[in-house]
Amino acid sequence: MRITDEAAQLHKSAIIIDGHSDTMIERDERKLDLDMVPRDENLQADVPRLLEGGFTAINSMCGNVDLQRGLRLMDGIHRMVDDHPDVVLLVDTGSDIETAKAEGKLGIVPQLESCTLFGEDLAGLRMFHRLGLRVANLVHGERGACQMMQSPFEHCSLEDRKAAEKWPGLTDFGREVVPECNRLGIVVDLAHTYDSTFFEAVALSTKPVIFSHGNVFSECGHWRNLTDDQLKALRDCGGVFGMAFYPLFIDEKEPTLERLLDHFDYAIDLIGPDHVGIGSDFDGCGPVTIPGSVTQVVEVTQGLLDRGHSHDTILKVLGGNFLRVYKEVMVSSFP
Ligand SMILES: [Zn+2]
Repeated sequence: MRITDEAAQLHKSAIIIDGHSDTMIERDERKLDLDMVPRDENLQADVPRLLEGGFTAINSMCGNVDLQRGLRLMDGIHRMVDDHPDVVLLVDTGSDIETAKAEGKLGIVPQLESCTLFGEDLAGLRMFHRLGLRVANLVHGERGACQMMQSPFEHCSLEDRKAAEKWPGLTDFGREVVPECNRLGIVVDLAHTYDSTFFEAVALSTKPVIFSHGNVFSECGHWRNLTDDQLKALRDCGGVFGMAFYPLFIDEKEPTLERLLDHFDYAIDLIGPDHVGIGSDFDGCGPVTIPGSVTQVVEVTQGLLDRGHSHDTILKVLGGNFLRVYKEVMVSSFP
């Protein structure tokens, strides 16, 4: 794809935030050192290529159902930040992302992909906040501490989705986690929930929530994508969803960049430019992503320009919207 000077300049000037990155847990899966700063072409992302691709900050997945692993990944984040203070920065509050941009560093936002690792005890959530946790998915799809049943993961009809609004959703513990996240200053993330859990959590939260990685159901009928009613609920609570680069969520038959751009167009048209972001799922969604690599995300910027979106809208989508929510919700836990 040809990238114009306008797109390249806009992309370079933007604060770009990735709502969901699995690189560290993928390194753990492969029993590699957890340091993401050395270049490693065997994975989809590393810090040098993320910076080359224009990223300012990533939500770095640091665990889901296993407490030991969660501690190991959180330790990995802290060691990486300690070892490379010139390259990466631990995001404590939203404004740290602006500092990362000004200093040319990559901001790391610790993100859990489930609270199941806490059992049914808020002590773990509070201690993880002290360690730097700033974004917490309630579930990774499992029947767990926060959600009554397992989330389906396949293509489905709108009727299926409407029926799921009546399923048993949050557990009693889940109903405690949401307000405690609000109080602590952790952003509640509803990716991987099914519909009843999603709507209950949105209603319970007194702060904007996010849906860190997923796409638009009206463009591709998959359980992991947001229905129109979910998109409107995110808009009404001031939240943001991150558009995933996962082919399976983009189009069941022919996932392409153009089809991904259809998802952006649909969401921006339905709920306005203030609630759409990106949540790539690099290193978490199989071998193929759209766009094809962390250094090609400028293709999204080009595509949005080509489809007539304003610079202002594109800057919001690339990271401005996540930044707004982070500044509103995150509370420091460090002296
Ligand atoms: Zn995920």
